[in-house]
Amino acid sequence: MSKKPKVVVVGGGTSGLAAAYTLLKQKDKLDVIVLEAAAHPGGRMRGDEINGYYIDTAATMFLESYDTVRGLAEDIGVPLKRVSRTKGGQVHSHGKFHPIFRGGSLKERLLTARTLLSFQMLSPKGIWQFLRFVKMLKSRREDITPESPARFLDLDTNQSFADFAKANSLEEFVDDLGQNDINCFTAANTDQISAACGMALLWIFSFNPSSTLIVPEKGVGYFATVLAQACSEHTRLSTPVERIVLEEGAVKGVIAKGGEFFEADAVICATTATVASRIIPDLPSNISSVLSRVNYTPALNIVIGLGPDILPDGAFAATFSRSSGTWLSAVSNIKMWAPKAMPDGKHMLHVFVIADRAEELLPLSDSEIEKRVIAEVRRFLPAMPEQPEFVSVYRWKEAGCIYPGGTMKAIHQMRRQSLPSVKGLYLAGDYMNIPITNGAMRSGVDAAEDCTSFLLHKRGDTIR
Ligand SMILES: Cc1cc2nc3c(=O)[nH]c(=O)nc-3n(C[C@H](O)[C@H](O)[C@H](O)COP(=O)(O)OP(=O)(O)OC[C@H]3O[C@@H](n4cnc5c(N)ncnc54)[C@H](O)[C@@H]3O)c2cc1C
Repeated sequence: MSKKPKVVVVGGGTSGLAAAYTLLKQKDKLDVIVLEAAAHPGGRMRGDEINGYYIDTAATMFLESYDTVRGLAEDIGVPLKRVSRTKGGQVHSHGKFHPIFRGGSLKERLLTARTLLSFQMLSPKGIWQFLRFVKMLKSRREDITPESPARFLDLDTNQSFADFAKANSLEEFVDDLGQNDINCFTAANTDQISAACGMALLWIFSFNPSSTLIVPEKGVGYFATVLAQACSEHTRLSTPVERIVLEEGAVKGVIAKGGEFFEADAVICATTATVASRIIPDLPSNISSVLSRVNYTPALNIVIGLGPDILPDGAFAATFSRSSGTWLSAVSNIKMWAPKAMPDGKHMLHVFVIADRAEELLPLSDSEIEKRVIAEVRRFLPAMPEQPEFVSVYRWKEAGCIYPGGTMKAIHQMRRQSLPSVKGLYLAGDYMNIPITNGAMRSGVDAAEDCTSFLLHKRGDTIR
């Protein structure tokens, strides 16, 4: 019997697990191993469990437009529940919370209009420019999907989203409401992300009228736990890879910490771009120069177990505008879309702190972060108990994937043109697609399919 080709997946996070799961469909023909640096699988989609609460340690939302997520959910047997966002959110600005609903009753629509009127963005010029912007995004609705950036690469100019906003008189929108949304979707500020990335995420999460949530009842982290279980027999945790070895333009294997060598016919590197650059030092310069453009912002997710809900009017989330004078970015109660993520009658608050605000908290101890977060949340939500059921701090040094304008296009070209020059090497991760869970998982599935095709059919790469 001939030996099965060996594939090493480096990183058992979102894209790595999607890649491994896809490869394992051919496990009678392929020898697959996932090497994960951390003690837990899941990366930025990891689930945790404390006192019967299922915690999303980072990502919390899937949308109906996430085709790859829906396909994987069906395969692993995790039902996704469609949730309309009728409950609405709250925006804190100028000293108080203002409600915002997506559609809803006449009363709710009027409340939303009143909230919008209280923001500066609704000067006559602001309204006009904003409506033109939304209309433009709407006209590209077939192109801007969470599956691939291929059809909207023309929007990826050299501009940052902040520059794009200035050039298109969208500053009023970006100064307040838009800034909040971008902060929450990217863990970054508008000058840190490309115009194309900002437009795509605003469309996918906010403006697309059919951006309905579709989430497992126990949350996104639970989905990652089940996906990781499906790959667990082929996964080695606490095994950081120090180097992916290339020789004469082809992959030879990987060296893990401690020096253990794993021979491989193919390697899928499913880490962040910064880690990929570090552990593949021999990459051709036309690949490494593209990877070096990708960077990450930090974020903290502090999860708090509560008895009763403390958000105003049962809202699912509240964001804080600049005028709020706080370093909190957003708080959310995932009960609306993941009702079984917490014991009956209980609630859970996810507190999100991003970018430079997170930078300041990262060096502090967990207990100091807990103390500061509880005090800050109490300033806005006085019902926050001083001693909640539990507080758990999740630190993400590389949370939001950011790159300058033009990088999406460069990555797409690199994947098609330069990467196939290194035989047996595949790259996956949110930076290879659209920086959200679905983009990461799609990149993992694509890498696995290309790799399988290369190893089993010897057809060469079938890069789309
Ligand atoms: C706080 C937060 C909230 C978010 N909310 C949402 C959301 O609601 N919806 C959404 O769609 N997206 C959300 N995102 C974005 C989404 O989580 C990411 O885009 C996606 O999970 C990234 O997947 P990835 O595979 O690129 O990286 P990761 O999931 O981070 O996987 C990388 C893996 O590589 C491992 N690794 C690193 N170095 C090595 C090494 N040397 N050897 C071996 N393994 C290594 C890491 O430990 C990790 O497990 C959120 C992100 C954050 C941080």
